[in-house]
Amino acid sequence: MAHRGDNPNSREFSHAVVPGPSHMSVIPPTVLVVAGNDPSGGAGIAADLQAITAAGAHPAPVITALTVQDTVNASTVEPASPELVAAQMEAVLADIPVAAVKIGLLATAAIAEAVAAVLARHPGLPVVLDPVLVAAGGARLAEDALVGVVLERLCPLTTLLTPNAHEIRRLAPGRGDTATRAEALRRAGCSFVLAKGGDEADAGGNEVLNALYGPGEPRLFRWPRLAGSFHGSGCTLASACAARIACGDPVEQAVAHGQALTQHWLAHAFRPGRGQLVPLRRSG
Ligand code: PLP
Repeated sequence: MAHRGDNPNSREFSHAVVPGPSHMSVIPPTVLVVAGNDPSGGAGIAADLQAITAAGAHPAPVITALTVQDTVNASTVEPASPELVAAQMEAVLADIPVAAVKIGLLATAAIAEAVAAVLARHPGLPVVLDPVLVAAGGARLAEDALVGVVLERLCPLTTLLTPNAHEIRRLAPGRGDTATRAEALRRAGCSFVLAKGGDEADAGGNEVLNALYGPGEPRLFRWPRLAGSFHGSGCTLASACAARIACGDPVEQAVAHGQALTQHWLAHAFRPGRGQLVPLRRSG
């Protein structure tokens, strides 16, 4: 069975060379990014734009919400109207051959419904869904009703879901270990689930364990646990994976590649303010 993420069309855009006015230009594949703004530039749409660009694709940003936050924590979430989010997505989809979609903060159940309706009108797009519920500093970013819409409407449209330990417990409560919860989310319709362990400082000792659940055997990834707390690491990883899928990587390869890029950017993180470290999302 072909997975949505295999995306045969993406190769068409990824390395196309066309004559420009004075030089030959490479056309990067486009990732439609649906996410919220973090004015510190550490997480949210700024993280997505940097990671997608550095991973080789062109980001088309659709804003779902404005937040008030710094590198310590968030204090306010002001959602856009669901109609405005849908209209932004439709404008891009009508104009640009989108090769993958990355979804981050949705904030409200109504926005999630609107996003699901747009995706249902454009079937076959690879979708990477980072189910953002709380900020790195712990502040709540989404209403509780969002969880039900993610499970019922978005999971069936999702190629790759990237929950951290907190999120997978919220999405699949009371269902045993991580593998059991990931399988429940696959039954809800996600083709692949990348269960991330970065927020489980007590598990894995000095390693971060991430596990990819898909149609085959689960695949375990081990990364050295870096010192410090990070702002935007989840956004960065999901965006890097979406960019690599857009560039034509099969999902498992995109997940491996996205993690390697993210680990590198985390290893070079900097502290722009008084709070968490921000990954240095640069190519090369
Ligand atoms: N999206 C927005 C707009 C945010 O403000 C945040 C966290 O503050 C996130 C997503 C999730 O960030 P992280 O990648 O640290 O989980």
